[in-house]
Amino acid sequence: MAHYLQSLGAGSEVLVGICVERSLSTIVGLLGILKAGAAYLPLDPDYPPERIAYILADSQATTLVTTKELATQLPSLPERVVCLDSDGESISARSTNNLSLPIQPDSLAYVIYTSGSTGQPKGVQICHQSLVNFLDSMRSTPGLTDTDTILAVTTIAFDIAALEIYLPLIVGAKIVFASREVATDGRQLRSQLERSGVTAMQATPATWRMLLASGWQGNPQLKAICGGEALPAQLAANLVKNVSSLWNLYGPTEATVWSAMCSVNSEQQIESNADISVSIGRPIANTQIYILDNQLQPVPIGVPGELHIGGAGLARGYLNRPELTEQKFITNPFNDEPGSRLYKTGDKARYLSDGTIEFIGRIDNQVKIRGFRIELGEIEATLIQHPDVSEAVVIVREDTPGEKRLVAYLVSEAETTATVLREFLKSKLPSYMVPSAFVFLEVIPLTPNRKVNRRALPAPDAENLSASSFIPPRNRVELQLSQIWSDVLNVSSIGVTSNFFDLGGHSLLAVRLMARIESKLGIHLPLTTLFTEPTIEEQANLLSTNGNIQFSSPLVPIQASGDLPPLFCVHPVGGNVLCYAELARHLGNNQPLYGLQSPGLSGDEKPSSTIEEMAAIYIKALQEIQPEGPYYLGGWSMGGVVAWEMAGQLQEAGREVALVALIDSYAPNQISAGVETDDTALANSLAADLGGIFGTELPISAGDIEQLQPEEQLQHIFATAKRFNLLPPEVDIEQMGRLFEVFKANRVALANYQPQPYSGRAVQFSASLPEEDRGWSSLVRGELETVVIPGDHYEMMRSPHVRVLASQLNACLHST
Ligand code: AMP
Repeated sequence: MAHYLQSLGAGSEVLVGICVERSLSTIVGLLGILKAGAAYLPLDPDYPPERIAYILADSQATTLVTTKELATQLPSLPERVVCLDSDGESISARSTNNLSLPIQPDSLAYVIYTSGSTGQPKGVQICHQSLVNFLDSMRSTPGLTDTDTILAVTTIAFDIAALEIYLPLIVGAKIVFASREVATDGRQLRSQLERSGVTAMQATPATWRMLLASGWQGNPQLKAICGGEALPAQLAANLVKNVSSLWNLYGPTEATVWSAMCSVNSEQQIESNADISVSIGRPIANTQIYILDNQLQPVPIGVPGELHIGGAGLARGYLNRPELTEQKFITNPFNDEPGSRLYKTGDKARYLSDGTIEFIGRIDNQVKIRGFRIELGEIEATLIQHPDVSEAVVIVREDTPGEKRLVAYLVSEAETTATVLREFLKSKLPSYMVPSAFVFLEVIPLTPNRKVNRRALPAPDAENLSASSFIPPRNRVELQLSQIWSDVLNVSSIGVTSNFFDLGGHSLLAVRLMARIESKLGIHLPLTTLFTEPTIEEQANLLSTNGNIQFSSPLVPIQASGDLPPLFCVHPVGGNVLCYAELARHLGNNQPLYGLQSPGLSGDEKPSSTIEEMAAIYIKALQEIQPEGPYYLGGWSMGGVVAWEMAGQLQEAGREVALVALIDSYAPNQISAGVETDDTALANSLAADLGGIFGTELPISAGDIEQLQPEEQLQHIFATAKRFNLLPPEVDIEQMGRLFEVFKANRVALANYQPQPYSGRAVQFSASLPEEDRGWSSLVRGELETVVIPGDHYEMMRSPHVRVLASQLNACLHST
């Protein structure tokens, strides 16, 4: 590889870009570039193509090492492109001898771009002497030997990857190179750690936290190296007891990976207080740290100042940015040697009485999120480039301790949405720089001296998050996902098109979400799918189209947690149980609610044609989770009728039924003479029912339907329901046909049903409109309790009236 690159002109001070997926070829590429005497410029293939193109142009790299496929995705390429795959033969035809090259200590080894506060990233130039000093220092402490195995998890675009790749190679240790997918998924990472006999791993606090959250129990052989961000005492306490040693490493890219470190041992440094972070210890070999005030005077012990770094690790400077280099790399006032410099880190720190250093925070707007270094100014400058944004401020919020996230505050004259801005940012910035929430404000709050008053920026809530129209769950998968999302995000009502990250989701919650989906639905979704499918709608689509989701029981756990006996609610005429989602939420976390859905909806079974048969099937299903009474049954509309029949059958079998809740149900054949069952009438009522459930009147009139051929009727309802978002994307006309079959079968079953008298407790919750007898009084032996709920038949199942229903139902459940 080195010979091949040399033949293309690579050599001392020549910059060669490398953009490859994580694999063995990453190491081949890096070593090839270094052995050719050139310097590498790592580019993460996950970055937007526009950013990669910017970095290639800004750095003036003339050669790029990549793969054929990645090369086709970039908008512009440098003069020479080496594809590790398609050029593989020409590369391997070269000599395998090392080149003998006069590489000097001050020859350039790599250039890494980091976020820039003025809107564009900047390249930090690191020379061989700095890298060698760093590796040699790490070889002795924390130390690595040829008996070790290190798990490499960091993208090469982040300088700490240098430890994971070169340190094992210089000592003869083994590298296990984790793919991006493994490195970002707690479960997979944990299994990789357990499988590969790993004895050392370096990661940011966020990754260690993710591992613990995935149930990783630690490893007494493991050297745990943590850095890149303050290490909270609580996390250190959880880690230290389960590993052989724990190290906190500190340092900026500008001083070559790590500049200070601390061996963390259980009692000394750790007070288990989440607010305190662990000391960053002392400088590594050939490195000096000074904590200075504004006049560059050392501050006394205990007094905060800006941390300055001097010594062998210092970068040459920023590539092609002489002013910025001069501003950040200053003449060392404490060393007379010519050329001696200090790097101004922008970190606030103080000396502790034992001579170790405590990191306090930043003096500017640079932040760390999950170990990624971000200049908030760069995100703001990018947002302002969008034509609809007139002002933008981005901050890091930690409304829940330990859960940092980026929030953008915007003033926009035009009607724009978070989705539009997110897509815009995604095309320009790495995904970790895209805010998780966008808050639209009339004005940005200012302090009396006209600076942005960051403290006065409100926490994002459902109201000030951009208003995208709320779409409730529309099928069983969406319903179950929405319940899981609500629990994990602690947000009560989630539309299926809301973005996980807008709702306050972040990587740790993502891990929790995926684990919950796996335990409830039995399907493991890779964490990365949450970035590509960040809404319930998309996730449900993914689950359904993968075809691996099977529901064999009619029982749908709408709200499965809680100690109280469960309430079982039977589907209305449409066959699904979506109508109970809001009710379940308002009944509270302690009241389990299971829906009973028509098995015919799944398409595998023929819909039942009698209420008696349905009741028998549902009794069997509910007895799987509650074998013995007393049973609490209920149902809205037709669901009440089936619940009535179930109660009768259960009683006959000698089981105890504590309650039948008839939620605006009409007893068939008691009031009206019957139900119309011809196809056109049914198609009409299907349209009305679909609209009714979602609170949207579909613009379909009985006249419209009558004029259409039978097969067109359904097509028309289908197209209109899709237009109004009442059907999820994966529902096709075939599934719509199934929905109609179930609807028809239920109608016919109702028309043919003769309810029998019942002697247990029955309570009817009737909508206030219309005020009429629903036919049950003559069938109840004893008194029929009636509770009137505001709203009509459909409205009573939605906010605000559903709250009244929930509280009345609760009172009833607790009084039995
Ligand atoms: P980077 O250039 O990405 O390595 O980021 C460097 C910055 O990360 C430092 O200036 C600190 O603000 C922060 N940092 C790195 N390591 C630590 C640590 N162990 N404790 C606290 N902050 C850290």
